[in-house]
Amino acid sequence: MKTRVFCGLFLGAMASSVFGAETASYFLYELGRLSVYMLVENQGQGRPGILIGASQAVLDRYMPGGAYTSETNTFLIKGNGKTVVIDTGFGGALFDSMKKLGVDPAQVDAVLLTHMHGDHIGGMQRDGKPLFPNARVYLAQEERDYWTRTAINQGAVAALAAYGSQVETFRSGKLGAKLQELLPGISPVAAFGHTPGHTAFLLESAGKRLLIWGDLMHAQAVQFPAPDISVTYDTDPKAAAEVRKRILAWAAENKVPIGGMHLVFPAVGTVRAEGSGYRFVPEAVQ
Ligand SMILES: [Zn+2]
Repeated sequence: MKTRVFCGLFLGAMASSVFGAETASYFLYELGRLSVYMLVENQGQGRPGILIGASQAVLDRYMPGGAYTSETNTFLIKGNGKTVVIDTGFGGALFDSMKKLGVDPAQVDAVLLTHMHGDHIGGMQRDGKPLFPNARVYLAQEERDYWTRTAINQGAVAALAAYGSQVETFRSGKLGAKLQELLPGISPVAAFGHTPGHTAFLLESAGKRLLIWGDLMHAQAVQFPAPDISVTYDTDPKAAAEVRKRILAWAAENKVPIGGMHLVFPAVGTVRAEGSGYRFVPEAVQ
């Protein structure tokens, strides 16, 4: 029996039915010479049961309706002569969005994985055939080791098997230290906690930076103001909280915009320190 591991609850609500307007299924963020497209896979409501250690006072204050809005997103990056996908969602809306943008999956040079939960690798393969046939697949060594050693996620094993020798692993760098580029303008940053090899990717072009932080956060209404709170999807909730706070502090201090796989449209914006936590200021949507 195949085990499917998801880190999102809102599997049924597709973006098109939520937003109505087709244009809202992606958001374009220009970063120097890179065009960064945030692609919405779906949007829905999550329940407070996934939040670990959230007091009633915190829930009343930041989630007064008893639920939070979240999304599943992927990112497509064009520039520097490369077409790159970061995560593949469930493999649904990603391909519709790419079609709208005139990008054939066969043109994709690289698929970067923040981690191997099912809502990030669902679009990698069908029936053992790679859906990005010419792409190299990059993921953290720790991430591949975890999922393939334990084989608790057959979807992860199948996703990697479809790409065979096109899979490459990397060792992530640390924020604040000199980073090693994986591709021109793209460097992996260790963000272990959500999963053992969970990775953020720092994009740099023409002096501008954007950190795509994967699943550092699932319930933004609560976790920006109270970043200590992890979720049940986090493999190591304590480590996830530590890295969340470290990256939030870095992004606020250095004024580096962030993008996330479970942040709500436009899912890209800046972080400001506020009180004992942070406030997210989304990019303006035209
Ligand atoms: Zn996840």
